[in-house]
Amino acid sequence: MHDRQLWDLLYDVEELLTQQEISREPWRVQPRMTREQQLEQLAREIASCRRCSLSEGRHCSVPGQGPVDPEVMVVGEAPGSQEDQQGLPFVGAAGQYLDKWLAAIQLDRRSNVFIGNIIKCRPPNNRDPLPAEQDACLPYLKAQTALLKPKSILCVGRIAAQIMLGSSDGIGRLRGTIHDYSGIPLVATYHPSGVLRNPEYRRPVWDDLRLLRTLLDRQTHA
Ligand code: SF4
Repeated sequence: MHDRQLWDLLYDVEELLTQQEISREPWRVQPRMTREQQLEQLAREIASCRRCSLSEGRHCSVPGQGPVDPEVMVVGEAPGSQEDQQGLPFVGAAGQYLDKWLAAIQLDRRSNVFIGNIIKCRPPNNRDPLPAEQDACLPYLKAQTALLKPKSILCVGRIAAQIMLGSSDGIGRLRGTIHDYSGIPLVATYHPSGVLRNPEYRRPVWDDLRLLRTLLDRQTHA
């Protein structure tokens, strides 16, 4: 696929997401490409992307990781140092902690969870992503969401929740309830690294994880 075709695909997805709910039926922009192939193509594009200045300081971009038909898509903010080195999402201490959260509600990144970030390249010193960087990178996540069609989304951390929900509220206000993201239920909670620093967040996180589990169980039996 040439660059022009890929960006046509991304803009088609943006239009799709803004105009209607994501279809649960197979969605194919390129009839000759499977969803796996389209996701692989997106990952290759992200690996070589130069759409914003974060490409200059990165070691690796981090497209995301997980199965093609996930129950849940976890969305974080941006890669950290270890993720930048390995090209994989949530691989440091926060990632191991996230894996424990997921295991507690019968989820696993190897079988039923896709893990990604809004920003695919590490911001210097882990600063918050700038609006121009968000605008440049968000089409990738939107395209992944449309291709993956997760049953639910779990947003971790303030920045990810604010960007996904178009809100300026803090995570304390955004967590604890079910939001809607283009027809997909979305639960927001604290970021695992924040909970490692602030154990008082453990209880609300557990409440949010149970809310997500209940939501998934309802979807299974609907
Ligand atoms: S952060 Fe996103 S838009 Fe910027 S260079 Fe990396 S992949 Fe491209």
